[in-house]
Amino acid sequence: MDAVNLLGFDLQGLAAYCDQLGEKRFRATQLFRWIHQKGASDFSQMSDLAKSLRDKLAGRAHIAGLPVISEHVSADGTIKWLFDVGQGNAVEAVFIPEDDRATLCISSQAGCAVGCRFCSTGHQGFSRNLDTWEILAQLWHAEHSLRQRRGSDERVISNVVMMGMGEPLQNYGALVPALRAMLDDHGYGLSRRRVTVSTSGVVPMIDRLREDVPVALAVSLHAPTDPLRDQLVPLNRKYPIAELLDSCNRYLEAAPRDFITFEYCMLDGVNDSPEQARELIRLLKGKVPCKINLIPFNPFPASGLKRSSHERVKAFADILIQSGIVTTVRKTRGDDIDAACGQLAGEVQDRTRAHLRMVRAPVVVHRGAATSAGAAPSASSAPGTAPTTSSQPPTIPRS
Ligand code: SAH
Ligand code: SF4
Repeated sequence: MDAVNLLGFDLQGLAAYCDQLGEKRFRATQLFRWIHQKGASDFSQMSDLAKSLRDKLAGRAHIAGLPVISEHVSADGTIKWLFDVGQGNAVEAVFIPEDDRATLCISSQAGCAVGCRFCSTGHQGFSRNLDTWEILAQLWHAEHSLRQRRGSDERVISNVVMMGMGEPLQNYGALVPALRAMLDDHGYGLSRRRVTVSTSGVVPMIDRLREDVPVALAVSLHAPTDPLRDQLVPLNRKYPIAELLDSCNRYLEAAPRDFITFEYCMLDGVNDSPEQARELIRLLKGKVPCKINLIPFNPFPASGLKRSSHERVKAFADILIQSGIVTTVRKTRGDDIDAACGQLAGEVQDRTRAHLRMVRAPVVVHRGAATSAGAAPSASSAPGTAPTTSSQPPTIPRS
């Protein structure tokens, strides 16, 4: 029988496991604290556990992190780890120290099935869901290796964002216990405000998260209209913007913050015009309490897309700010080690050949109707001359 990896349990799960071994709940709490608060992986270290329990555990369970393939430290202090998740797949976690907080960005899947046009993970296709222990192992490793390096027992990571590889809400079953362990006072003790799930908009799962573990929510919007968002975030065809915004409002009833963060990746000539900023205002103002985070696009060759210029980002931000919407422009961090958002490519194999499919069958949208690439695009929708009205969104250049 394979040993059970105790990193894969929230406290309730560990209590149930201990119960099976005939152990009381407080033993599970002790064990949980050793694992997550002290970073222990060796049962013999756990001095306050009865020797009989330690022996019992040693025979049937273990505490095993993910093998680290590489660690890169950026000039700005950002650290990127690449973890081996087997069968040629790797996932990344990125540590981002700032003056008032230290954030760890972690992955939920090897690859991603959503296939967003501007995302290198999306271009690689979906390999597999991570297990709970693989999600938590990223935090466990980062927190405890950093403490060790600093020679201190003090907590290092103050915030966690599920913004690495993968769509967390398409790996819901593994995500929820991982979030619970992050929030648990006997685990990492992070408040719900300091744990953020970022989603491309899996509406039914936003509703479930609200019931199960309502942490802070970031929604990757990227476009003010459905025809454009259909192209950038293919999941929009299933859950269009109006449904997504309704679910955001429902989420706010339970959320730890009184706003939703909308992420908007600035793509040159695609979604960054002043008119599109005004469309965004019409979409959101007075409809969903929100903040907007503009993310400068991190280009990668296969995308065929370009980062909006600094001036264009600023002009876009100014329009939003003047309307009263709190807007920030994300600083790019760790550029020198490819640790910025959307560069979390890892070495995931291109199992589903998603990238090839994107290249061969780009979607061209005219007047709200999606047609295949065979339809002749109008001159005005050629790359670089993107029209900006909602009825005729730009053609996304082929990668
Ligand atoms: N799947 C989730 C979380 C992971 S992606 C989601 O889509 O929200 C985390 C953030 O990085 C998202 O807002 C995503 O849109 C953004 N992103 C992806 N690729 C990017 C790129 N190349 N440049 C900038 N941001 C990118
Ligand atoms: Fe998946 Fe998020 Fe990348 Fe879209 S942006 S492909 S949802 S990881």
